[in-house]
Amino acid sequence: MKIRTRLIILFTLITAIILGLFATIIYLSAKENRQIEFYHLLQKEAITKANLFLNAHVDKKILQDIYHNNRKILNEVEVAIYDTSFDLLYHDAVDIDFVKETKPMIDEINQKGEIKFYQQGWQVVGLPYLYEGKNYIVTAAAYDQYGYSKLDNLLHNSILVFIISILFILIAGIFFSKKAFEPVRAMIEKAKNISATNLDLRLSSHQSKDELSELADTFNEMLNRLENSFEAQKNFVSNISHELRTPLAAIIAELELSSTKERSTTEYKIAIHNALNDSKKIVRLSNSLLDLAKASYDPSEITFKPVRIDEVLLDARQLVQKTNPEYKIDIHFEDDFESDSQISVNGNEYLLQVAFSNLFENGCKFSNPHRCTVLVLFDSKHIILKFKDEGIGISKQDRSRIFSPFYRGKNKDYTYGNGIGLALTEKIVMLHNSTITVVSEENVGTTFIVTLWNS
Ligand code: ADP
Repeated sequence: MKIRTRLIILFTLITAIILGLFATIIYLSAKENRQIEFYHLLQKEAITKANLFLNAHVDKKILQDIYHNNRKILNEVEVAIYDTSFDLLYHDAVDIDFVKETKPMIDEINQKGEIKFYQQGWQVVGLPYLYEGKNYIVTAAAYDQYGYSKLDNLLHNSILVFIISILFILIAGIFFSKKAFEPVRAMIEKAKNISATNLDLRLSSHQSKDELSELADTFNEMLNRLENSFEAQKNFVSNISHELRTPLAAIIAELELSSTKERSTTEYKIAIHNALNDSKKIVRLSNSLLDLAKASYDPSEITFKPVRIDEVLLDARQLVQKTNPEYKIDIHFEDDFESDSQISVNGNEYLLQVAFSNLFENGCKFSNPHRCTVLVLFDSKHIILKFKDEGIGISKQDRSRIFSPFYRGKNKDYTYGNGIGLALTEKIVMLHNSTITVVSEENVGTTFIVTLWNS
C-alpha cells in the first residue's frame, strides 16, 4: 500500500476515533443529565401535589381535573399519596394508574427514605412526606417525552455531523496528501530517467529547506559523487590503455625497423636495449596497477598485523636501490626508540613497503643528486615519517592534484613515470587510517609527511 493511502487511512481513522469518542461522551452525559433533571422534576411535583392535597386541603376533584387537562398538552406527572399502611389517599388518575404500588414498595420507601426506578420507560420516584407528625408516602411517575426527543435529536445530529466530518476529512486528506506528495512524484519521475548514460541529470530542489529539498540535495550530492567516480573510472581505463599503448607501440616500431633490413650488431643492441626499457615500463605499470588493485580491496580482506616501520623502511630502500643502484637513501631516527611497540604499527607489511618505496623513488628521481632522506619521529600515539628531497619541487597548482591516479605534474618531463605512485601511496596510507601531506617549494625540494598510528 502506498504511504499516501496509508497516511490518509490512518489520519481519517484517528480523527474518526477522536470524533466518535467526543460525540459518545457528549451523548452519554446529556443522557445522564436528562435522567437526573427529570427525577428532580418528579420530586418537586410529588412534594407540590402533597402540599396542595395535605397542607392546602385542595379538593381531590380539582387536582384530578388539573391533571387530566394538563395531560392533553403536557406529559403531566401522575402522583399518588398513601399512608404508611398502604391506604390510598389520593391518586391523579386511578383509571390510568400507571405505577402499580405494592405494600412492599411502600414499606421500602418508608424505610429507605426515597426510591427511584424505571417502569416501561417511565421514570418513577417514591418518597416519604411528613405532615403534622405523620408520615405519608408519595409516588410520582411520568414519561420524559421532551427529554427523550431532545436526546434523539442530539444522537441524529451527532451521527450526521460525524459522517459529514469524516467525509470532509477524507476528501481534505486526499487533496492535501496529493499536494504534499507532488514533489515526491516529480522526484520519482525524474529519478526514473537517470541512468549511467545521463548521470548529469539532477533532481530539482526548491528554496524552502524542507525535508524533501534535503532529500533531493542529498540525492544530488550522491549523483555528483557517482558521476565523478564514473568519470574517474572512464579516465582510468583510457589512461591505462594509453600508458600501455605508448611503450608497446615503441617496441613494435623498434622491432619492425630492425627486421626490415640487415643491421649492425651495435644497432641491434640499441634496438634490444630500447625494447627492454619499454618492456620494463610496461612491467612497472602492471605491477603498480596490481598493487593499486590490492590497496583498493576491502580493508577487512587485507591482513593487518604489528609491523616494525624501521624494517619496512630498510626493505623499501633495498627494493628501490636494486633497480636504481645510483639512488641514495638515508634513514634517520630523531630519537632512540625504547620498545618495539614505539616503532610498530598495525599494518600490512607489503603495502607499506610499496608506499615507502614510491616516496623514496620519487624523492630520488625528481632530484639531481638522486637523494632522499627519511626522518623518523615518534610521539605517544604516532610515528611520523618525513620523506625529504632537495629536488625540483612541485608547483602550487600541481600540489592538490598529484594524488589523482595517472596525474603527472608539469615537471613530468624531468624523469620517467606513469602517475600511479602517489595515488597508490595515498590509498595505502588511508587504508592504515593514517594521513599523508606534502610541503614543497619549486627548485628547493619536497617533503612528504606520513603520520601513522602506532600499535
Ligand atoms: P610519477 O612519479 O610516476 O610521475 P607519482 O604519482 O608518483 O607519479 O607522482 C605524481 C606527480 O607528482 C609526479 O608526476 C610529479 O609531478 C609529482 N611528484 C611526486 N613526488 C615528487 C617529488 N618528490 N618531487 C617533485 N615532484 C614530485
